[in-house]
Amino acid sequence: MSRTTYKQCKFCGDFHDVHNWPDNHREWVPDNRSELAAPMLINDNLDYVESQADGKRYTSKRALSAEYRRLGYVEVGNENPGAHRKTLDKKKHRAEVKESIQRAASTVSLKKPTMTPKQVRKARRKMANG
Ligand SMILES: [Zn+2]
Repeated sequence: MSRTTYKQCKFCGDFHDVHNWPDNHREWVPDNRSELAAPMLINDNLDYVESQADGKRYTSKRALSAEYRRLGYVEVGNENPGAHRKTLDKKKHRAEVKESIQRAASTVSLKKPTMTPKQVRKARRKMANG
């Protein structure tokens, strides 16, 4: 089942299906693409960048990257953000939470009362009367 979404047209004021919009009711947008189609290229050239690992100068991004990898460094920026994430063991996590709550509860129950017996009686009297 698919839902049809309608939007109001700027040109005729009528509503059209957004996935079946009439071509002659579109806003003209200039096509800025070049007549000469060419793939995007990323240059490997660097203007003498000094390596942070060994202090040598490099003119190639690939060579610099390879040297970092060879020395055991990880370049930050283009890596997969989830690659180093630990997967959570839900059963173990729940057990740890339960244990933590039990420890906190027992700590609280071992604490001395914050009010003296006289203060408790006074508070009870005040609650019963007011
Ligand atoms: Zn229209």
